[in-house]
Amino acid sequence: MDEKVYEMISDLKSYLGYLKEMGISFLPASENSSGKTIPSGILTLADVRKELGDCERCKLHRTRRTIVFGEGNEEASLMLIGEAPGYDEDVQGRPFVGKAGQLLTKILQSINLPREEVYITNIVKCRPPQNRNPQPDEIQSCNPFLVKQITVVQPKIICALGSFSAQTLLKTDTKITALRGKLFDLEGIKVIPTYHPAFLLRNPERKREVWEDMKKIAELIQPIK
Ligand code: URA
Repeated sequence: MDEKVYEMISDLKSYLGYLKEMGISFLPASENSSGKTIPSGILTLADVRKELGDCERCKLHRTRRTIVFGEGNEEASLMLIGEAPGYDEDVQGRPFVGKAGQLLTKILQSINLPREEVYITNIVKCRPPQNRNPQPDEIQSCNPFLVKQITVVQPKIICALGSFSAQTLLKTDTKITALRGKLFDLEGIKVIPTYHPAFLLRNPERKREVWEDMKKIAELIQPIK
């Protein structure tokens, strides 16, 4: 076999190994013109959404109105991950569209990032009743889909919004006050936790710290935007 073919096989092997580590143990299949099933090799957000389907993997499906999968640029450099949909998100089926979401849009504008340029999602895709914190079994059920979203988008930076998102992504109990503004590594992706916009609505004096974090994010994405 020619050297190039060996090289291709070896690259493919390491790519599949990487996907496996990220929790992806299969590739979506499609039909070619002869009707044979072949692996497409490239996962898209539409594939991930399709796989999620009309999800009933955890108890949140009983009380949710809509699945809030996430939205934005499939090739975003910056991915923002919140906690869970609230009332407005559950009604509209879109992440961060309530008061906290409007503040998030303004925060992004402050670093000249239009909302459409980033990708926004949550740790869990269904609203917990009375906006309580998502429970471990709910996070676990949703996690493979979050991992796949991250794998598809391959952002350079993830901004974890609030303690819940930061602690879940970084698998830590450390308080958000100690985590915010610091850079962490998640399988080669930089993670910056910052305060949740809903927290800022209650504590506007903390906006300054988020502004510092946003400036850091802007600097990091500048060369790769
Ligand atoms: N809070 C979140 O964490 N996510 C949303 O989508 C809305 C509010």
